[in-house]
Amino acid sequence: MTTVAYTCPFVPAEWIRAHGLKASRIVPPGRGHGALMEATAGLCPFARALLNDLAGRPAGSPAVFTTVCDQMRRAAEVFAARCPDRPCFVMNVPATWRTPAAMGMYVDELRRLGGFLVGLGGSAPTDGQLTEVMLDYDGARRQLAAARDGLTARQYAELLADFGRCGIDAAGDACHAAQADRKTDAVPLAIVGGPLLGGHFEVFDIVERFGGRIVLDATAGGELTSPAPLDRHRADENPLAALAEAYFGAIPHAMRRPNSQFYDYLRRELPARGARGVLYRHHTWCDT
Ligand code: SF4
Repeated sequence: MTTVAYTCPFVPAEWIRAHGLKASRIVPPGRGHGALMEATAGLCPFARALLNDLAGRPAGSPAVFTTVCDQMRRAAEVFAARCPDRPCFVMNVPATWRTPAAMGMYVDELRRLGGFLVGLGGSAPTDGQLTEVMLDYDGARRQLAAARDGLTARQYAELLADFGRCGIDAAGDACHAAQADRKTDAVPLAIVGGPLLGGHFEVFDIVERFGGRIVLDATAGGELTSPAPLDRHRADENPLAALAEAYFGAIPHAMRRPNSQFYDYLRRELPARGARGVLYRHHTWCDT
């Protein structure tokens, strides 16, 4: 089965899977991993690490980029120029909130992505097939969320990363991960900012070593960017629209304008998790 790699949270894994292909959301390892793109100007460290990861994959491996920031647009250009043997697709994601026009454009872009997936050997799903995949993913995400309280912050972050990389096939096993030995007197904190590289996950351990505990991962690769729970009634009526609403209609990514939903999310989730402070972490040159 062809694996389609991507990293942007606005690319729905369900849409790729429903076309009969494997969806793999990448968390690039970063540090010490390849130097192919090291000298490329105009890339933040995350985009560079992503390109190094993609460039290290077998010839012919497809990748999907989006337009969430200038560095990602630039990364797609660099990838197409330096890896001409790899199919590449750039999905336009409106930077606005969910106006009817923006939502319509997002759905059109999903259809255009569908054409790319068919070109890779996939087949366009029926409404019933799409709904089935969406329900599977939604169920797996609920299972992951339920597992959170029994895990350390690092275990949970790795669980989400594994789920993104391997999809529903990995969710069941992952949820049976070892239970955490959690310290109840640790200071609860949130982490906010740009997406973490794999090598950055040690930040969760460092915080714990110093008496803290990350209770909310609101980075651009963490829980903040999970799609909303599926509206099952809406999915029965129009599965593609329901999918678009769960992703484009809900993810409060900081790139959106206005970005008030990002602050609404923090206003809601920080007290809900009992966070007493925020650790802000971002990549140099991140423009979102
Ligand atoms: S870290 Fe910032 S600039 Fe870099 S790819 Fe992510 S959102 Fe774009």
